[in-house]
Amino acid sequence: QALAAAHRRFTEGNPASLRQFEAQARYMPGANSRSVLFYAPFPLTIAKGEGATLWDADGHRYADFIAEYTAGVYGHSAPEIREAVAEAMNSGINLTGHNLLEGRLARLICERFAQIEQLRFTNSGTEANLMALTAALHFTGRRKIVVFTGGYHGGVLGFGAKPLPTTVPFDFLVLPYNDERTAREQIDRHGPEIAAVLLEPMQGASGCIPARLEFLQALRELATRVGALLIFDEVMTSRLAPHGLANKLGIRSDLTTLGKYIGGGMSFGAFGGRADVMALFDPRTGPLAHSGTFNNNVLTMAAGHAGLTKLFTPEAAGALAARGDAMRQRLNALCASEGVAMQFTGIGSLMNAHFVGGEVRSTDDLAPVDARLRQLLFFHLLSEGIYTSPRGFVVLSLPLTDADIDRYVAAIGSFIGEYRA
Ligand code: PLP
Repeated sequence: QALAAAHRRFTEGNPASLRQFEAQARYMPGANSRSVLFYAPFPLTIAKGEGATLWDADGHRYADFIAEYTAGVYGHSAPEIREAVAEAMNSGINLTGHNLLEGRLARLICERFAQIEQLRFTNSGTEANLMALTAALHFTGRRKIVVFTGGYHGGVLGFGAKPLPTTVPFDFLVLPYNDERTAREQIDRHGPEIAAVLLEPMQGASGCIPARLEFLQALRELATRVGALLIFDEVMTSRLAPHGLANKLGIRSDLTTLGKYIGGGMSFGAFGGRADVMALFDPRTGPLAHSGTFNNNVLTMAAGHAGLTKLFTPEAAGALAARGDAMRQRLNALCASEGVAMQFTGIGSLMNAHFVGGEVRSTDDLAPVDARLRQLLFFHLLSEGIYTSPRGFVVLSLPLTDADIDRYVAAIGSFIGEYRA
């Protein structure tokens, strides 16, 4: 009932977004190409962004607490990124050759994320994972890939509550996340067939569920023992510490995949790691080809370099993580003092609201009541001028102010007050 009322208010207040949705739905199923952006009754159309502020088609203004699902760490059209892209544009795009910008970004990434000795660029995190898995299959001569419940590795590689009916034709073994005992049992049992163990060191799409250190340590040890490659999907988590989350935890993966903000807010992905594995792709000596028209496009190469050197430096990454930790502590203290079964999980600048009281170690711990309350929260936050995601995901970006953060915390307080019953 409360949700129906929220939908009604939303529909009445957003006529321009509704018109846009209906017009677009004629040419695109669901009016868009990104399932994650849909919510009932219809999604807002965002007309404009500046810094950490968004305006929708009806002219409402929001503080942006989703930041392009982590790709937008710089805020909207930061001057440094804009200049870098303009400069690249002035020297010509679509150059059909090795160019002057790709090596610079590759070096910067390898120096920043120490476990990456060599890398290759892709256009998305999805492709990066597909290529890393392909590399592992060829390197080991094996067929099986271990992944985890709730894992998300891209549009064709999801293992969440709504698993994809046709995940790409790899031979997957799906194990429970954060369950060391099952991992030991199954990886030992299937050892000689396993090419790779792929996971996010904190599950992002499933609700910011951090891996336990002992779990990651066990996987490192098991992968080495059975001769499989350990692949960390750091598409989201590389922002959580100055040199990535794996580095902070002291665990060295064999391969790492990256994406999101590292391309300066442009389409981006990369996979890399051990030089002996990446040598598979050396056209002079290796057996594997890896192509992609836009893999080295100069706009992304320029934007990425500007972003990592001028804005999201290792120091800035550490500072943003600290701000996120402080905000999450405030939110959890508030939930505790109000005595509600609600909490914010996550690390640093990424967090997720959950309507459960106990520890969240995997998607199994998230109660079914979640979905409805999460939606109520989403619409409540919109009404308070805060743009997030219907799944309760909260993402900090550099231009968010302390006042924005105070506003978010206050909005959680008023939400608890309103829906406590
Ligand atoms: N891996 C993780 C952990 C992600 O969160 C995502 C995107 O949300 C991807 C991979 C896929 O990246 P992309 O959307 O760029 O294909």
